[in-house]
Amino acid sequence: MKDWDKIGITDFLLNNSGMSIISLSDTKAILQGTYHLCAHHKKRGDVDFDYGLRIEIPAKFPNEIPIVREISNIIPRDDDHHVNRDKKNYTDSLCLGSRIKILQKISENPTIIGFIEKCVVPFLYSITKNEFVFGELKHYYNGIIEDYEDIFDVSGSNKVIRILLCLSKKKRISNKYPCPCGCGKRLGKCILHNKINHIRRLASKKSFKEEYYQILNEKYLAERKYLMKKA
Ligand SMILES: [Zn+2]
Repeated sequence: MKDWDKIGITDFLLNNSGMSIISLSDTKAILQGTYHLCAHHKKRGDVDFDYGLRIEIPAKFPNEIPIVREISNIIPRDDDHHVNRDKKNYTDSLCLGSRIKILQKISENPTIIGFIEKCVVPFLYSITKNEFVFGELKHYYNGIIEDYEDIFDVSGSNKVIRILLCLSKKKRISNKYPCPCGCGKRLGKCILHNKINHIRRLASKKSFKEEYYQILNEKYLAERKYLMKKA
């Protein structure tokens, strides 16, 4: 059995009396109940509000991201409110941000409390206030590309996609690839490889590979949509 206490499930439950464990196995833990959001922001003011939440924590946390659903039906199910729709395994889950950015935030405090405070509270605060004060999250494809351009300091979706490909390969192999930044050197000879190696530690090669194909597919869909609009 996985030692769920290592990631602070008990601490989280002790601090959040409305939440309880509804399922616990070797592959995931599910927490559900009323989450009392009590957040402060110097300029924008305080928020005190109850949300019904269902949090699915994968056993591979912190290298995999929990799925959070709002079950009190307060948040409208649409893109403007950053709720995922029609996405396999993720329907109705909150779109908390791009994967690597969330993994980075979790790594700062790899416990359930850390995840909730850094990723879920800012989201719920903004939704409750009806404004995204912690940085506007654009939905899906464009938002992810922008986030990754920022994280890796490159521009263009092709470069971002090549970086994800490098993350899906072994260090030794990807270091021999032409650098995704376009400098003309091999990745191993460019400073970009430091950034890539830093991100490598946050998740498995397999998961980066899945994300690579997912983004490749989103790029294809986005371009097709653009071409159809033009025609
Ligand atoms: Zn380079």
